[in-house]
Amino acid sequence: MQLKLMSMVVDTVTGARDRLSWGECSDGSFTVKSAYSLLSRDMAPKQNMGSFFLRIWRVVAHERVRVFLWLVVNQVLMTNVERQRRHLGDSGLCTVCKSGDETILHILRDCPAMSGVWIRLLPPQRRQAFFSKSLLEWIYSNVGDEKEIGECPWATTFSQAVWWGWKWRCGNVFGENRRCRDRVRFIKDLSKDVWAAHKKVSGSLSQVVRVERMIAWIPPMVGWFKLNTDGASHGNPGLATAGGVVRDGEGNWCSGFALNIGICSAPLAELWRVYYGLYIAWGRGITRLELEVDSEMVVGFLRTGIEDSHPLSFLVRLCHGFLSKDWLVRVSHVYREANRLADGLANYAFSLPLGFHLFASSPESVNLLLLEDINGPARPRNVRL
Ligand SMILES: [Zn+2]
Repeated sequence: MQLKLMSMVVDTVTGARDRLSWGECSDGSFTVKSAYSLLSRDMAPKQNMGSFFLRIWRVVAHERVRVFLWLVVNQVLMTNVERQRRHLGDSGLCTVCKSGDETILHILRDCPAMSGVWIRLLPPQRRQAFFSKSLLEWIYSNVGDEKEIGECPWATTFSQAVWWGWKWRCGNVFGENRRCRDRVRFIKDLSKDVWAAHKKVSGSLSQVVRVERMIAWIPPMVGWFKLNTDGASHGNPGLATAGGVVRDGEGNWCSGFALNIGICSAPLAELWRVYYGLYIAWGRGITRLELEVDSEMVVGFLRTGIEDSHPLSFLVRLCHGFLSKDWLVRVSHVYREANRLADGLANYAFSLPLGFHLFASSPESVNLLLLEDINGPARPRNVRL
């Protein structure tokens, strides 16, 4: 608790008053959608279907096949059992084999018209387990089965067979069946084609162009100073620290700090370090500052501002208070490889007491990083073009 309190901001600088934020949205602004989900939230434990559906949407198959699987899992196929339940029919019996109730499982697996196909598709040692599962277990285990059987993952073959089993059956019931000489051969060939097409397409899509760039800390322009900040945390929210350093055009240490924040969220910590970085730079009487930040989010906040209702708006406003002073500050994003000294200070802060620590000269534990930034080699990084 004390650690959480330590990270709270008591704002006496900008004179801003406490404000209300809507806690259900991360940016603090009210939406009807979030209010509805707050009011209708059901805290009773229930089965989490998220991972189930994730499996279905990941299956390599046509979109219509995946949508069909989704319908199956929601158990909304209009079977005779369902029709009888809704008083739309007199009997729940399967009209194809007339030897059992027409449930979803019966249609897709157990009706002899389909079970014969499955038996030929499945390796013998799998048959027993395959036919003994409940509907949801059956779908879940089979669509997650990536093992290749006959040059194609079983999940793909399975999905194709389920979909075509349904199509054939509808054709049969509604009397518009086209002849399919060998259904098993047909499913196998189709699945193989789908899989081959998938491999071809994903192969060309996954080639994101990346180039290796050598990244190093670059000193500021003549007459300018550079502020690097970075943070470290154990969890989010969790114990968080920050570090920052101001250097001149030769890479010499001008000022630096380490901050042991306590427990807070990552965005809060990211803004804290920028605030303290600006604080020490302004304190040194610097008039031209390049500010390098490793967080795209913070760069965005600093450039375009933030809504009043955002929970972090007070801290962004504190930073803007510094930016609007009588000096030049340029904000830019920096890669980790060029931000190693600030990172070192943030890690060092874990060993320090809670609070803010100012260093007029480089602490011994980061001396090496300071020297490496001046003389050391650049580090490779794969940069997305
Ligand atoms: Zn049947």
